[in-house]
Amino acid sequence: MTVLVTGGAGYIGSHTVVELQSAGYEVVVADDLSNAKADVIDRIETITGKRPVFYKIDCADKAALRGVFENHPIDAVIHFAGFKAVGESVQKPLQYYRNNLDSTMTLMEVMEEFDCKKFVFSSSATVYGPNNPYPYKEEMPAIQSSSPYGWTKVMIERILTDYVTAHPDCCAILLRYFNPIGSHESGLLGDDPNGIPNNLMPYIGRVAAGKLEKLTIFGDDYPTPDGTCQRDYLHVVDLAVGHLKALEYAREHEGVEAVNLGTGNGVSVMELVHAFEKANNITLSYVVGPRRDGDLPAFWADASKAQILLGWKATHSVEDMCRSAWDFARNSK
Ligand code: UDP
Repeated sequence: MTVLVTGGAGYIGSHTVVELQSAGYEVVVADDLSNAKADVIDRIETITGKRPVFYKIDCADKAALRGVFENHPIDAVIHFAGFKAVGESVQKPLQYYRNNLDSTMTLMEVMEEFDCKKFVFSSSATVYGPNNPYPYKEEMPAIQSSSPYGWTKVMIERILTDYVTAHPDCCAILLRYFNPIGSHESGLLGDDPNGIPNNLMPYIGRVAAGKLEKLTIFGDDYPTPDGTCQRDYLHVVDLAVGHLKALEYAREHEGVEAVNLGTGNGVSVMELVHAFEKANNITLSYVVGPRRDGDLPAFWADASKAQILLGWKATHSVEDMCRSAWDFARNSK
């Protein structure tokens, strides 16, 4: 079975390629390297002993994508490629809508041309928006978001749902991620964004490595037990395994399913900072600053559907996440 992984050189994509190859899948990666480094493909080869086929292409480039499908018998697609910075999407909404929607629809058109019917989509808990109570359940109305980035996820979920309604022999799994952190046990893959990180764990990693002076905790006056925001952090390797399970499900089924991938537990920013310090025997410099626009006080997953439908459950602890995050951050240049 051959799987096309778009965005396969990125943080979650690369971990998923490792799990797919380890499970015996043939993997073709398409990535334009706009937010990833080419040596990730070498690192995947080092870990798995097998080099995935790699195309440096933009998924909105239909001719290039056709070439990939002509060269390989693609049975299924896992689609990660897309812009993902929430704050930047507020500044550049048109760029986000154009890129994320165009690339997905182009990919779907080419899949249709080549009779490829299995689609696993990288969605996000952001689709639950600011008004649903947590823990979030898949049947809640996912028609809101607080950023153009999040709206692209809502819209793509809609497009895939409408497509599968019109083509009921297809299968689309919409994986709604909570907050993936940590890295592969080899220390070779991890979250290494260009520029100053927006997300909490890569920022912590750079402070621990002495590359950034201190962490700013965005607000400690939220209505939560310690006043800092709570999120559902999950290990990226658990998340990658979730894609494998989703693919196995899609191979056997038709229709569309949204599935949360989270642990079901809320952890606060302050708890994560202290867990990182304890797991790695490090002291982190931090200050408490003002709230960040658009942040919700707390949310986490109801993770029961993933277990029932896909047979998936997160297995790694917060300590595992913190230790592996540091193993990667201390080694990255
Ligand atoms: N956060 C923080 N300082 C930072 C980055 C993030 O305090 O430098 C907080 C942020 O307010 C949120 C949590 O960490 O409560 C997770 O933020 P992240 O951007 O990683 O993920 P999000 O949940 O926003 O997708």
